[in-house]
Amino acid sequence: MSRRLVKLRPKAKANWPDDDQQMHQQWTVKVEKAIPGSVKRVGVSMPPIAQAKYACPNRSRGCTWTFTPADMPLHVTECKFRSYGCIGSQLNVFRCDWTGMQHQIEDHLVNEHGMGELLSYNQCYWIVFSVDTPLSGIKLVDAFNRRFLFYTVSNVTLGMVYFVLICFGRRVEARQYYYEFEIRPQEGGGVRRIKFTEYCVSDCEDLGRVMAEERCAAVSFGKLKRFVHDGIVPFRFIVKRVEKRNEF
Ligand SMILES: [Zn+2]
Ligand SMILES: [Zn+2]
Repeated sequence: MSRRLVKLRPKAKANWPDDDQQMHQQWTVKVEKAIPGSVKRVGVSMPPIAQAKYACPNRSRGCTWTFTPADMPLHVTECKFRSYGCIGSQLNVFRCDWTGMQHQIEDHLVNEHGMGELLSYNQCYWIVFSVDTPLSGIKLVDAFNRRFLFYTVSNVTLGMVYFVLICFGRRVEARQYYYEFEIRPQEGGGVRRIKFTEYCVSDCEDLGRVMAEERCAAVSFGKLKRFVHDGIVPFRFIVKRVEKRNEF
């Protein structure tokens, strides 16, 4: 072992949390008891149990990743090999008991739910608006050579409408994209606009919570009413990729 490594090791140990240090000491004592002189002889400490990595439970389905016990629960919720239900059903847009894999969901939505029409770059779309009938809908979105899901839902009790852009992928992937969303009046309706710039959210996120925390475009009925024309509200959005210079 190089001198440099020997010098660095005690410092690294000092930075471990108390539990890890304790676990490491217990491990060292156990190994030393079982094979006297081994810890000293090998000279390299094994990582404490909390640092050890284990295979993802979806290994048999194809996941080759390993995680520490602390990081595993988060991964399991977003693992692309997890058992995957129909997102349209989970969002209560329609009923469907299909289950499969995450990479099959786009084909499923197109083939089984007739969602072949893709929203694309900066086109103008609209939603039906009603103050007393809850409405919800999903549309596939084509951007950056991947599919996103545009989800709109109204809550008549709270008097709110939410617009969420869902990314089929892990949280860290979703965080690489954001959308600029704009509600505008009909042609000739003046300069008023409602604008939002928000991150996309992963399909593994608790969307009820995303909306409750307004981590999406969230507009009150009162505000939206000013943009209604013949029962519909026009809007447009653009999906963008987060560049390093956008983050400050
Ligand atoms: Zn996995
Ligand atoms: Zn389905």
